[in-house]
This record gives sequence, C-alpha cells and structure tokens, in this order.
Amino acid sequence: MKKADKLRTLHERWSKENTCTLKATATQAVFGDGSPSAEIVFVGEAPGKREDERGLPFVGASGTFLAELLASIGLRREDVYITNIVKYRPPDNRDPKLSEKEACAQWLMDELLLIRPKLVVFLGRHSMNTFFPELKISDVHGKIMHQHIKNFPVEWFLPLYHPASALYNGSLRTVLKADFAQIPRFLNTISCRSGKTPK
Ligand code: URA
Repeated sequence: MKKADKLRTLHERWSKENTCTLKATATQAVFGDGSPSAEIVFVGEAPGKREDERGLPFVGASGTFLAELLASIGLRREDVYITNIVKYRPPDNRDPKLSEKEACAQWLMDELLLIRPKLVVFLGRHSMNTFFPELKISDVHGKIMHQHIKNFPVEWFLPLYHPASALYNGSLRTVLKADFAQIPRFLNTISCRSGKTPK
C-alpha cells in the first residue's frame, strides 16, 4: 500500500475508534493534511470553526497566515504536513482539555510513526506543552531542540508562536516571521547531523 493510502486508512480507522468526547459536538474529524513524505510536520492545537466545516486543518485566518509563512521560505502546504493535537473542534474554540488531548494522542503518534519527518514544528504553547510540559513558549520559541524520546520517531523539535496569536499582534508577527525564516537552516543542520547530504 502507498504511504498516502496508509495515512488515509489510519485517519479513517482513528475517526471510527476514537473516544474523544468532542466527537459529540464537532461536525467531523479534521485529519492531518499534506505530504505523507514531508520532512516537516506542523502540529497545531485543535480545529476552529472553518476547519470543522471543511474537515481540513488551518484553513481559516491562521491558515492563511501559515500559508504566507510557508511561502516566505519557498514552501507550499503540499510540501509539508499539517495536523493538530486534537482532531475535533472544541465548542466555542475553548482550549482542549487534557482528556481530549489524551484521547487523540495515539492518533498523532501514528501519523508521526508513518511520516517520520525530520522536524516537528509546534504551533503554539498547547502543542509544545503536550510534549514538553515544563517549557514556556516565550523562552524557547525559535530555538531548535534535539531530544531523544524513547519509542518516539522524531528527535528534532521547533516551538513557534501560534499563527493565531501573532495575527493581530504586530510584534509577535515579526518574531514569528523571523523564527520561521530559520527553518531551512535548521533542516540543513538536521540533515548534516543525521549523515545525509544537506539540500
Ligand atoms: N488553529 C489550530 O491550532 N489548528 C487549526 O487547525 C486551526 C487553527
């Protein structure tokens, strides 16, 4: 089976088997989207209204900004993979609860195990704190982290501010753009460290 088909099967299975209570109020599950061979996986928090309607992650205002950020480093949505910690929209866009994050955790893990990207980019503190609960986004945004986590398919992580928080905040916007601009250099470093020829 091709990787794209495996990914589709994975999402369909999880959307049936998942026990997240948000299923009761969401329109549909929002599957991850993009290339199954992506070197970078972007992990957001949870779908908003637009994402819930369309069944795709980051297609509202923060998605437009994310597409702009990707274009600034010569990438399109189709070149990367975009997903969320929680696959169902929390009512009124409230923060997802721990139980909701836990219910979707293995789903995300299975996506990462299949894609095996070089780099996971956390979009916002909720995403980052799911993996690194002790870190503060204001301290670590834009800093590449190398961590070997037992049985985890990725070793390189980059925390960034969430595009939604930077949308209407000029100074955060500037910071997010500058952090984003470092991604190509980080990818090269990762390729060198893993013994692969940098592009
Ligand atoms: N914010 C997120 O964290 N994820 C989405 O899919 C959209 C907005």
